[in-house]
Amino acid sequence: MKPGNEILSSYGTTVFEVFSRLAVEHGAINLGQGFPDDRGPPDVLAEAARALAEESNQYPSMMGAPALRQALAAHARRFYGLEVDWQSEVMVTSGATEALAACLLGLIRPGDEVVLFEPLYDSYLPIVRLAGGVPRLVTLRPPGWGFGRADLAAAFSARTKLVILNDPLNPAAKVFSGDELALIAEFVLASDAYAVCDEVYEHIVFDGRRHIPLMTLPGMRERCLKIGSAGKTFSLTGWKVGYVTAAPALLQPVAKAHQYLTFTTPPNLQAAVAFGLAKDDGYFTGLAAGMQAKRNRLAAGLEAAGLTVLPSAGSYFVVADYRSTGFQGDDVAFCRHLTTEAGVAAIPVSAFYDGPPLDGCVRFCFCKRDDILDGAVDRLRRHFARGPFRTA
Ligand code: PMP
Ligand code: GLN
Repeated sequence: MKPGNEILSSYGTTVFEVFSRLAVEHGAINLGQGFPDDRGPPDVLAEAARALAEESNQYPSMMGAPALRQALAAHARRFYGLEVDWQSEVMVTSGATEALAACLLGLIRPGDEVVLFEPLYDSYLPIVRLAGGVPRLVTLRPPGWGFGRADLAAAFSARTKLVILNDPLNPAAKVFSGDELALIAEFVLASDAYAVCDEVYEHIVFDGRRHIPLMTLPGMRERCLKIGSAGKTFSLTGWKVGYVTAAPALLQPVAKAHQYLTFTTPPNLQAAVAFGLAKDDGYFTGLAAGMQAKRNRLAAGLEAAGLTVLPSAGSYFVVADYRSTGFQGDDVAFCRHLTTEAGVAAIPVSAFYDGPPLDGCVRFCFCKRDDILDGAVDRLRRHFARGPFRTA
């Protein structure tokens, strides 16, 4: 038999799937894969049900249902002061995953260089490589996840086509500062490049922070493609409703990719997301406040269990250094151990690195019911109280 595409076949099953399966097999509490366990806003669910029963279930417009595109333009104005033309500057996709793929396939030409920050979300590199792009990595390391001018100077060049920026950053839970964004903008301009901005956690930032889209910085309006996801904003990750906002000249080639990837997204879900985006400010501040309380709850519990917790400024995640528990193996061994022996699943942070793996850190997801978080902490405390550990 002839082999399949070697770029894609060189990757294993995603780490999220691997640990979710292992969690089910061992009856572990799954704090690995990032998905909330609440039902999502009841009024948004009701709108999806109503639209399914009462409205068209045929192909909606390829660029997205007009009501949702209008709601996205209103959302951009309300939260970021961005004036967006809903007809030519917004496109609805089947999740942020498709939005990312469409941006990369639509913009990258073979040989183009693509700057990425690692740790990086798992879908970026395979698609960059599939499009013929040449990755240039900027490596961020815990506990600070910082970078400077020299790091960007080493990665950007005249051959840079685009940079992928995930802010807030999964799994580091870093929110890029205004100064860091300004530095990135400077390099994007100097390289005459674009920025694909994965901002799926835009409404999940903590401690009074404000999310700043790179697109709002001087010179960036025409160069950024801003990606969001209703999965994160409405705690409905299975819906796979995403969106891209960009100037017409950038959005057009991306729409060409979208028309051959998925073409459209279920119309009733689009109607419900349009409804959701118009909810009052209290919904959005409540989402962040609720997640922040969960972050605090899990972080305190992990510390009490003997792990060293790193700051989490946004997203669904908190990273912890487990070396304080005395465990000697690498992070994959630790996550396997945790899932099978302690009954709590987490994700090894090394899975988000393409270069030399980072060791000693794992990612926990806190967007779960309080009793689930408390149950996980209880298991961890009892488990680590037993120490010391053998080398895995
Ligand atoms: N980007 C990041 C950083 C993510 O964490 C996720 C996870 N869901 C996605 C993209 C994909 O979003 P969606 O489920 O909307 O495809
Ligand atoms: N975004 C989710 C996470 O980081 C996982 C999504 C997926 O399983 N592909 O956990």
